[in-house]
Amino acid sequence: MSTYTYSAGPGVLPTEVMQEIQQHLLTFEYEGVSIIETSHRSASFQRVVDSLELRLRRLMHIPKNYAVLWLQGGATLQFSMIPMNLRKQNRFAYVDTGIWSKKAMEDAKHFGELDVIHPFVDATGGMSFESSLVQEVDYLHVTLNNTIEGTRFTHIPEIDIPLIADASSNILAEQLDVERFGVIYAGAQKNIGPAGLTVVIIRRDLIQSLQLPSYLQYASHVDTLFNTPSTFSMYAAERVLKWVEDCGGVETMERLNRQKSDRVYSYLEESTCFSPIVTGERRSLTNIPFTTGNQKLDQRFERYAFERGLLELGGHRSVGGLRASLYNAMPLEGAERLVDVMRAFEEETHVSH
Ligand SMILES: *Cc1c(COP(=O)(O)O)cnc(C)c1O
Repeated sequence: MSTYTYSAGPGVLPTEVMQEIQQHLLTFEYEGVSIIETSHRSASFQRVVDSLELRLRRLMHIPKNYAVLWLQGGATLQFSMIPMNLRKQNRFAYVDTGIWSKKAMEDAKHFGELDVIHPFVDATGGMSFESSLVQEVDYLHVTLNNTIEGTRFTHIPEIDIPLIADASSNILAEQLDVERFGVIYAGAQKNIGPAGLTVVIIRRDLIQSLQLPSYLQYASHVDTLFNTPSTFSMYAAERVLKWVEDCGGVETMERLNRQKSDRVYSYLEESTCFSPIVTGERRSLTNIPFTTGNQKLDQRFERYAFERGLLELGGHRSVGGLRASLYNAMPLEGAERLVDVMRAFEEETHVSH
């Protein structure tokens, strides 16, 4: 029986990509030399970087007036690099949609004043915000998909200041119109590849020269590898992006993610044992929080699923409950298997009542 991981991050990667990496681990370009031992300044590694960037540009339709930076420090370092690099009047707006956006705000407070905007939910359960609240700030920050709460923006109004997006848990999982954003950033470990790599897609006119420590300046990283990057993670990410392209690109990923999450949401809605925590249009395509309504029973289900090869179904440590993350590399069978195991648990707990 297959094992599946529903981990929120680092998340599932395509099995065929990991097999390919395993097969080539000891031989990158030359017999006996591994990618892990290869210089980031070598011509062969430069080909990996070029291909990685080209594939991301193709997949997301990133125009030339945007730079693609490959950094370390996770999405978390971007929480401070963004205000540090984009500040002009030192006033920023943040839409508060949950724990990750709050963490981004905490770090931004070191660099200026914050306007906190609360999102609203419309009649269909869609999530948006009131654009007239955004005034005289250097940028507006949004967390496109809330990994912990399981919600996502369904509509982003037009605004005339740079829009900055944390897309850590939905990059390449749903289509994004890059040209609407000043910056899109994401930790790689949810939909792109192994941990240790962060991608920043930034409109070139936003990059200023400032008095900052060298690594922390976006300008240092434009069109060059400033220092030793996370070489293995970049190599693996390049193979994952090839896999996404071979599957049909982001449009296909989004269609499959809707299909997978629909399976789980439909079951949760009809179940007499489990219920979804979020309803309506704003529910996430990639992260599904749910609960039995009883902490002990939630824990019993987590153990029951684990014994059947379904791993990492516990909710985030700050909110509890249960959560299934269905990133790009989760096959449809993984969503179906989860529903089967939930149904079996529901039947067994009914009998024992
Ligand atoms: C996981 C996650 C982060 C944190 O990412 P790190 O790479 O661990 O710093 C930030 N924002 C969102 C939306 C996330 O899902």
